[in-house]
Formats: sequence, structure tokens, C-alpha cells
Amino acid sequence: MQSISEKTNKITLEKEYGSFIDGEFVKSSNGFIDAINPANGELLAKISRGNKEDVDLAVKAANVAFQTWSALSIEERASYLHKVADALEENTDRLSMIECLDTGRPVYEFGLDYDIAVKQFRYFASAILLDEGTSRALPDGQLIVQKDPLGVCAQIIPWNVPMIMVSFKLAPALAAGNTIVMKPAEDASLSTLEFAKILKDILPKGVVNFVTGYGIEAGDALINHPDIHKLSFTGSVGVGRLVGKTAGERLLPVTLELGGKSPHIVFPDVNIDDAVENTTLGYCLFNGQSCILGSRLFVHDDIYDEFVAKLVARAKDVKVGDPLDPSTRVSALINEKQGKRVLSYIDIAKEESAKLLAGGNRVTVHNHEYGYFIEPTIFEATNDMRISQEEIFGPVITVMRWNDIDAVTKEANDTEYGLAAGIMTNDFKAALSTAQKLQAGSVWINQYFNFQTGAPFGGYKNSGIGREYGKEALDEYTQVKTIAANFNLPPAGFFK
Ligand code: NDP
Repeated sequence: MQSISEKTNKITLEKEYGSFIDGEFVKSSNGFIDAINPANGELLAKISRGNKEDVDLAVKAANVAFQTWSALSIEERASYLHKVADALEENTDRLSMIECLDTGRPVYEFGLDYDIAVKQFRYFASAILLDEGTSRALPDGQLIVQKDPLGVCAQIIPWNVPMIMVSFKLAPALAAGNTIVMKPAEDASLSTLEFAKILKDILPKGVVNFVTGYGIEAGDALINHPDIHKLSFTGSVGVGRLVGKTAGERLLPVTLELGGKSPHIVFPDVNIDDAVENTTLGYCLFNGQSCILGSRLFVHDDIYDEFVAKLVARAKDVKVGDPLDPSTRVSALINEKQGKRVLSYIDIAKEESAKLLAGGNRVTVHNHEYGYFIEPTIFEATNDMRISQEEIFGPVITVMRWNDIDAVTKEANDTEYGLAAGIMTNDFKAALSTAQKLQAGSVWINQYFNFQTGAPFGGYKNSGIGREYGKEALDEYTQVKTIAANFNLPPAGFFK
């Protein structure tokens, strides 16, 4: 088995990456953006600062490719998706390490992302074979309900889990017969561009195109391009609204996966040590930069003091440090802006008189002074405070007491978001009856982050519109045609 340093030494990156358009890497006339390692400030590569011209080329290529890709049999498309899954699996180590360098996330997490991504391609390779449409006999004919692809899909993704995002968007769209122009996040494009090199040898040219660059340039040009047929966006609520508004004005179908402020409810009958461990993972995974973070913790009064004392002790045990150290669990946030944003929320919480129980500081890591490393941070707070209501996107959790299930369910739902929720108890009746009342797209009982292949994922309320990850995603990328056919013309009668 190779050591981490052996693996990183083997990573070779291009000095400059063009956007991936029509099967080639095309440099923009608009110049480049630096791709920086957020942990140590090292320049990793330069990526194309795509503009309207690049988006135009990519959309043209995707429209041409759509003619042949959409005409393939579903078996042929499924076979392509299996080849993509195999190649992604073979390249997991290399791409994971590139992602680690590009995003600052701890190396310990990466098997997780790629396992999910590979399974997405395999799942949709199979799901498309069962998404057959319907047909029934009529007294003198046949009724057919057929599913057609939409055309060219414009997809925009954030930086936190690049390959999960890429696979969530590409796999169902491709399986359904669409072609793609995707804009990755400017802070995390390298693994996607290296993945493009792999796709170049597998998929026909123009089927998948990646235009890198800024949201306000490449992203804006993409969502406003006249020749796209679908918008799919994952990111903040603010930009999501803009994408939704654009879709509304242009009457394009849209999928939005937005933010979250997810409640996690702990009942008094749990094994406290196990529950504390799962809770800690629930707010520290991805350095806390996740829309599904279990960031509002409600602990029952009967165990509150012991639970919170153990949670605080565990927070102090979490290793904050170099992302390439396998024992690190929390490492550098994506950039200075995000680091300052998290620290500003810690200040806001103090101003609101939330009680700081653990963490709250930026940590200096040897040889990584550039990076924003934030200690796992716990506040005792109330649900109406900004720290409990606004998405922070860092390793920060608020804890609150409860003793009445109806009241805590109401508080859990008292948020603009509704992406995920967690419940921990051995009382299954209580768990399920609470789950039924929670306004969230995913409810995990006794394991936060319980992602099962094929389980639909998406948000209630401001957390989004539409579903990904499960077979429902195929509906997001298809339109339905009804064909009603008679064998014979009906007897005349109109003029009688
Ligand atoms: P943003 O909304 O800022 O950006 C997301 C993507 O949109 C990026 O590629 C960005 O480009 C692009 N973008 C920004 N402005 C525009 C615009 N005017 N037109 C078109 N595209 C634009 O989110 P973040 O990158 O900051 O990601 C964090 C957010 O994403 C959090 O709020 C989080 O909750 C949410 N998220 C939701 C998930 C879900 O599944 N529900 C999963 C992961 C994150 P650029 O690269 O220039 O920033």
C-alpha cells in the first residue's frame, strides 16, 4: 500500500487547463484563474476563465452531440455509464488526492465521495433500463406514454464535494439521453477537469462539456444561453433564486439543490457514547462545509448534561490539521472568504449571548499558516438565534434542550430550510412518528449521513426543488409524450 506522500508525489497536474469542450481542452480568450491549495496557498494549476464565447462553443457542441446521443438505445447508454463508473473507480486514488489538494478536505474522507459517485453512474445505468414508459391497448388502437430527453442541460455545481456533485448531475441526465454543459465551482475544478480526460476516451465528443470560470461570467452566460433546455443548480439559496427566476422567465424546467440547517434530535434512551460520536461526525464531516450538516442539535433534558459534556470532550479530541495527515478529521476551509464567514458567525453567536462550550478559534497549522482551520465549535443557543437559523458552512453546531416531543418537532421545523434531519432513539415508534412530522427531504434515524444508493435526495421549503440521487432524478431530465393511436379512422359523424 502506498503512503500518502508517495501518492501525492505521483500526482501530476497540467500547468494550465482549458475548458473541456467538444472533446478537447480549449483555452479561453478571457485568461485564467489560479487554482490554489487552500491549506497551504500553493498554486496547483491555472484553470480557464470561461466566458460567453466558451459557453457558446460548448452549447453548440452539446446540441450537435444530442442528435446521436439521444438516438442511442438505452442499453448502449447504460453501457457507456458502466464504463464511466469503471474508469472512475480505477482512478479513485488519483482523483481523490487531487480533490484533497484542491479543496483542503482531509484525505480520510475521500473513499466516501468516490464510492458514492461510482455508485451513481452504476445506479442510473440500471435505472434507465427500468424507466420504460407505459403502453396499453385501446379498443381500436394503442396508447403509448413515452419519455423523451430534454436536450442540452446546463448544470452548475458548488465546491464542497466536487465528484459527488458531478455524478449526481451527470449520471441521470446522461442516462435519460441528454447532453451536458456543466460549470464547476471556480474553487474546485481540478478533479472535474482530470475526470474530463477520462471521459474523453469513453464518451462521444460533445456529450459532456465542462466550462470553468466564475459564476457571474461563465455561470451567467450558461443559464442565459438561448439553446439550453434545462437548468440544474446546486449551491446557495441566493444564487438558486436567481437560477429559478431565470428558468421561470424562460419557462425552462429547473432542479435546485440549496442550503440546509438540519435538526438532529436525540432521545433519552440512546447509548450516549455512540450518539456523541455520530453527532460529532454529523457536524465535522466535510470540514462542516455541507448543506446536510446536522447543525442544530436537540438533546433530551434527562441526558443533556452528560451528553453535552461528552460532546465537548469529543470536540477537543478531533484532530484539526494537515489535510494529508490520515488522522486529521477537520482541515482547511475552502478559502479565506469562507474562513472569515465562519469566524464572523462565531462572533455573531457571542454577541447574541450564545454560550461557547468548545472551540471558536482559528488554528495555526505548521507549514499551513495560509489556511483557515477552525476548531470544532459548540454553542449552547436558542433556536431563534442567527447561529441556529443561518447556514454557516463550517464545523459549528448549536445545542438545545428538549423535553416535549411536540414542542421539539415544532422547533426542528422552525427554519426556512428542509433538506435533512436526524433522530437518535431505540424507540422506533417515537422515531417514525417524529420522522413523519419533520419537514425535511431526508430523515436519518440512528445514523446521520445515511446515504443509500437510489434514495431520493432534495429539499423541502427553501432547500430546493426536485430530487437527485434516486430514480426520481430521471423525471427531472425527461419530458413525457402521450401517443394515442387508432388503427382506423373513427366513423364520420361531425356533419350529421
Ligand atoms: P454559490 O451559490 O455561491 O455557488 C454555486 C455555484 O454557482 C458555483 O459554481 C458558482 O460559481 C455559481 N454561481 C455563482 N453566482 C452565479 C450566477 N450569478 N450565475 C450562475 N452561476 C453562479 O454557492 P457556494 O459555491 O458558495 O456553495 C455553498 C452553498 O451550496 C451552500 O449554501 C450550500 O448549502 C449549498 N450546497 C447545497 C447542496 C445540496 O445538495 N442541497 C450541496 C452542496 C452545497 P463560482 O465558482 O464562481 O462561485
